[in-house]
Amino acid sequence: MNLINRVFSKTVETLLRVDSRQKLSILIYHRVLPERDPMRPFEPTVDEFDWQMKVLTRFFQPISLTEAVSALDGDNLPSRAVCVTFDDGYADNEQFAIKTLQKWQVPATFFIATGFLNGGRMWNDSVIEAVRNARGAVLDLRQVGLDRFTLENINQRRQGAENIIASVKHRDAADREKLVEDIASIVGEPLPDDLMMSDAQVVNLRKNGMEIGAHTVNHLILRKMGDKSDAEKEIGESRRYLEALLGEAIDFFAYPNGKFDRDYSLDHRDLVESMGFRAALSTEWGVSNRATDRFQLPRFTPWDKTPLRFTGRLINNYRNLR
Ligand SMILES: [Zn+2]
Repeated sequence: MNLINRVFSKTVETLLRVDSRQKLSILIYHRVLPERDPMRPFEPTVDEFDWQMKVLTRFFQPISLTEAVSALDGDNLPSRAVCVTFDDGYADNEQFAIKTLQKWQVPATFFIATGFLNGGRMWNDSVIEAVRNARGAVLDLRQVGLDRFTLENINQRRQGAENIIASVKHRDAADREKLVEDIASIVGEPLPDDLMMSDAQVVNLRKNGMEIGAHTVNHLILRKMGDKSDAEKEIGESRRYLEALLGEAIDFFAYPNGKFDRDYSLDHRDLVESMGFRAALSTEWGVSNRATDRFQLPRFTPWDKTPLRFTGRLINNYRNLR
């Protein structure tokens, strides 16, 4: 080991001794891509995910979510405990991420929005792929109340897709669905139907020792849904689908988008508990301990592109107890 490596290891060890005791860090991922996608620059590549999992096994204690929740309840969490989770159900989870997880023996939990399995596509992906595939250097969306976008290079395409996503994000679900369909038909190019997992891929993750959780059917923001019975249906149907597929109970739920108050309320938190889930995960940043609400376990992922910064930010997160 060279000097820098030794100093780095020592520093990490010292910092972790102070901050990681009896605290659980849960990482959130969505996708792992075979190579950098300029339309999705923040998604890790297989190579980046590989060193991230290496960091976890070297300095932390990766455990399954089931073990983690039991350990929180039993007050016997190993120090430096960390869980890995994936949201939404992208096919690359089963095609690429699982190989790295197995290589480093890191257990993970995959939260599936069941309505997109077997050829579906989330609306934001439809926008990204439509703008990526649009022919010519201009995409004029003024007829549907949006802008005229210049698409001369990939950066402009990424920016264009981001702008469209930002301007349609907060519309109600039916309007948004219609608008995204209109955009796709103006573009007139085929969109991929293999972004999300098939049933068989979900089964394969489970067969390989990974855990599966519910993430609603249509990934609608609970806070924006009419009433409690609609939310209950979205949550319950995704759970029942996965239970039928896997032949076992589904114990965990992750709130779509996952920010408290903006995306879900205390009523939804209580609903998830009353439905008999064992725990639910938000996307609020931070770590958990014994006292943390099991139905609002926070998550966090460092976004850094170097192991040093990634590790530093992960250590720093242990100070953010919720
Ligand atoms: Zn999600």
